[in-house]
Amino acid sequence: MADKRDYYEVLGVSKTASDDDIKHAYRKLAKQYHPDNNPGDESAAAKFAEINEAYQVLSDKDKRAQYDQFGHAAFGSGAGAGAGAGGFDGFGGFGGFGGFGADDIFGSVFDMFTGGGSRASRSNGPQKGESVETEVRITFEQAVFGVEKELNVTMKETCKVCGGNGCKPGTAPKICPKCGGKGQVVYHSQSLFGTVQQVSACPDCGGTGQFIENKCPGCRGTGYQAERKTISISIPAGIEDGQYYRIRGKGEPGRNGGERGDLMVLVRVSTHPVFKRDGVNIFSEVKIPFTKAALGGKVHIQTLDGDFEQEVKAGTPTGTVVRLRGKGVPNLRSRGTRGDHFVTLTVDVPTSLNAEQREALRAFEETMEGKSPYGERKKKGLFH
Ligand SMILES: [Zn+2]
Ligand SMILES: [Zn+2]
Repeated sequence: MADKRDYYEVLGVSKTASDDDIKHAYRKLAKQYHPDNNPGDESAAAKFAEINEAYQVLSDKDKRAQYDQFGHAAFGSGAGAGAGAGGFDGFGGFGGFGGFGADDIFGSVFDMFTGGGSRASRSNGPQKGESVETEVRITFEQAVFGVEKELNVTMKETCKVCGGNGCKPGTAPKICPKCGGKGQVVYHSQSLFGTVQQVSACPDCGGTGQFIENKCPGCRGTGYQAERKTISISIPAGIEDGQYYRIRGKGEPGRNGGERGDLMVLVRVSTHPVFKRDGVNIFSEVKIPFTKAALGGKVHIQTLDGDFEQEVKAGTPTGTVVRLRGKGVPNLRSRGTRGDHFVTLTVDVPTSLNAEQREALRAFEETMEGKSPYGERKKKGLFH
C-alpha cells in the first residue's frame, strides 16, 4: 500500500493552521465527500475516511503535537491497511457501545463504512472479507425489548468443489506470469513533483499472484459460490429505526487466511398506533372525559409494560402531561436504565348529548351563574 498522505495535506491546511481553520476545512471536505452525496463512489468513501482520520488527529491538541513531532509514526502501525476501520475510533459518543461485546450498533451516519476496511489494494497478505448488508423489519415492541430473528442471507462462500483455490480438482494454480506471483505491479508516472511510483493490484490475477489454467467447474475459477443461509441474530433492546446492527465475522470469507467480514443489518422499526418514540422516551395521548377532568378519578393508561389505572386530580386541565418514570425504552448506551413515558391527557368534550345529559349540564350551568368554573379571574362574558 502506498504511503499515507500528510494529514495537513489531506485537509488542505498549513501546518500553522488554527483549530478553527482545521474545523472549517474538515467540514467543507466532509460534506463534499460524504457518501450520502456520492452514492456508490468508493473513491469518495475512501477519501471521506481519510479526511476523518486526519481530522481526528489534527483536532486533538495532544495528538496533533505528537503528529507534528513524529508524523504517522506517532500512531504505531498507522501506515497499515486498516485506515477504514480505524476511522471509527474517536468519533464522539460512540465509545459507549462496548457493552455489546463483538457486535456494534451504528447510526445511519456510519452506513458508508459497510464493506470498509477491505477496500485497500489487494495483496497476498490476509484480508478481511467483505461486509454483507441486509435489512430486517421488526415491530415497535421488538425494538423496545429486543428480539431474536432469523435472517436469510445470500452471500459469497468458499467453493466446496475446489476448496477455494479456483482450480479443477486434481490441478493446481500456477504463478501469475504478469506479476511473478507478487500480486502487485508497480507503475511509474510523471507529475509536477517528479516521478511518482504507484503500486496496484496485478490486473491479470487480481492480486492473488496465481494463474489458473484449469478452472473449477463449481465456481468458474473464482473460488466462491453463492450460498443462501439462515443466520440467527439477537437484536438488542432499545435499537432505533435506521440503525445498523453489526454482527462481526458473519460476512463474506476473508482472503489468504484473513478474518470474515461482518454482517451489517439495517433495522427497520414499524410505527405503533398508540406510542411515538423519541430516543429512549415514549409519548402517547390519552383522552379523558371532561367530567372526569373536572371531578377527578381513575384513567386507563396503556404502557409498554401493560395497562394500568392512573389517578387524575379533580380540575385536571387539558394538555396535562403525566410522566411515568422508567416506563420508556431501555437505553442502548447504559444497560439497565430506561427512558420515561410521557402521557398527555387530552380532555374530551362530547360532540352529541341526549336530552337527559343536556338537562344535567344545564342544571350545572345554572349553579355556575355569575361564577367561572375556572376560578375567580375569568369573567362570565367570556363563556357566552
Ligand atoms: Zn471452485
Ligand atoms: Zn498477477
